Amino acid sequence: MRYLLISLLFLFSLGSQAQESHTQKLMTQGKEFLRKENCEDAEKTFKKIFTSKETLPDELCFYYGVALVKLKKYTKARDFLEKYLSLTNSKGEFVKETKGLLAEIDKNVCGICKGNDYFWVDDSCDVCIAKGYTLGNCHACHGKDKVVCPDCRGAKVLVTNNSLGSWYNDCPRCENGLVTCMRCKGSKQEQYNCTKCHGKGTVKIKKVCTHQH
Ligand SMILES: [Zn+2]
Ligand SMILES: [Zn+2]
Ligand SMILES: [Zn+2]
Ligand SMILES: [Zn+2]
Repeated sequence: MRYLLISLLFLFSLGSQAQESHTQKLMTQGKEFLRKENCEDAEKTFKKIFTSKETLPDELCFYYGVALVKLKKYTKARDFLEKYLSLTNSKGEFVKETKGLLAEIDKNVCGICKGNDYFWVDDSCDVCIAKGYTLGNCHACHGKDKVVCPDCRGAKVLVTNNSLGSWYNDCPRCENGLVTCMRCKGSKQEQYNCTKCHGKGTVKIKKVCTHQH
């Protein structure tokens, strides 16, 4: 039993070594393409490695980034180079080169969209016409401008109790048990925060960049 377990472990480690060498082989190939300035093939080779389910070396992000910079695919290159920095906690072997490449990307990309091909601008909200609020029915009177009189509670009379008995008087505040709504002051409406722009009056819209400074 013990022997079987050991052989299984051995087989398993052989298997993972074989897999590792497959990634390693492609890495070597990719780096060779890079050295020969054949960036298209380098890109393809590194891309192939990313589809693997094996544990991948951090430096793959760096080398892939190098190929992408040379192919002027700056946005994607930046993603991978930044990934390399974060994976290695900025302590990797190629940190200096990576930072140099990132600076080069910044110099080459469009200043407006930073190479993202789109940028965000403020646009006035079309729901509230840039006011930040919309008008709706007053929630106290439900858009009817009158509410039940708070003094007589709609009874139209006030009852006074004293030693001589109960006295009924007309409510001095209302005539028919209703008074003008205090919340909307009779306007029937109240302002609600616009749900689209959340009261700001503007919304961010994405614009495709034409890269013209
Ligand atoms: Zn009243
Ligand atoms: Zn009201
Ligand atoms: Zn709005
Ligand atoms: Zn641009």
